[in-house]
Amino acid sequence: MARKNQDIDVLTPKPLSTVNLSDYATRYEGDMDKKTAKALEQQYEERLFTLQEMLYAQGKKALLIVLQAMDAGGKDSTIKHVFDYVNPQGIHVHSFKVPTAEELAHDFLWRIHKRTPAKGYIGIFNRSHYEDVLVVRVNNLVPKEVWKERYELINNFERILTENGTHILKFYLHLSKEEQRERFQDRLDRPEKNWKFSKGDLAVREQWDDYMRAYEDVLTKCNTEYAPWHIVPADRKWYRNYVITKRIVEELENMGLAYPEPEDNLDDVVIPD
Ligand code: ATP
Repeated sequence: MARKNQDIDVLTPKPLSTVNLSDYATRYEGDMDKKTAKALEQQYEERLFTLQEMLYAQGKKALLIVLQAMDAGGKDSTIKHVFDYVNPQGIHVHSFKVPTAEELAHDFLWRIHKRTPAKGYIGIFNRSHYEDVLVVRVNNLVPKEVWKERYELINNFERILTENGTHILKFYLHLSKEEQRERFQDRLDRPEKNWKFSKGDLAVREQWDDYMRAYEDVLTKCNTEYAPWHIVPADRKWYRNYVITKRIVEELENMGLAYPEPEDNLDDVVIPD
């Protein structure tokens, strides 16, 4: 029986504990209603505006947000909603696609490392290095001996980032197969959404169970204290947006951000005509 998410906002499994996704609800069934969630989300978004400005002004730390989901899981829409208010100059969004020939000629983390946020910035990964143990594993794009080593390599890589002042939050948008069907149908029914649908998405849908097993391994092996995964019930978009915004704000609040000290004697400054 899946957890009801009554009291827990975002579900973070205990670090390195075994995750079975059927234990986690895809649909929020708690007491909060949509109106309340949206109102709270807006408050968090406004706070996010200020915190991002402080992060930039201070220039000492960075925040990396990793979003992973099945197709139609809501990665794009999450980015659009959560960062509504934030100064676009302070965030960098990167979508990782099928690697290019040049990327494939390097190690799998090469293209990723180049896109990690500099101090002062929020970086958002729409898909990420985790594709290298998801799509790559499910489709046997490299031998098992190669991908099975990657969990530890990823943990070490994320450790390097956190040691260098980058906080990492990873969100798996946990969607039900039924909700994916409805979202695909909507993309087919609405002409302005047709572009979002690709027949190839159905082939991936057929691999649903393999992907769930691959995600469970990711959520088990790469859920560390320093770079935790969050399993977000994603069937209800308003709840998904609310919890993710809240979690990001909480993280930034705990980063010890402050505006830098102003220069001395600013009170004496007179701006010349
Ligand atoms: P979205 O990412 O928003 O769902 P999309 O699915 O339309 O958009 P695509 O242009 O199809 O985006 O590119 C993403 C594709 O790239 C996915 O099928 C993904 O599995 C694939 N991909 C990403 N990283 C890798 C990788 N390392 N190896 C192989 N395929 C990858």
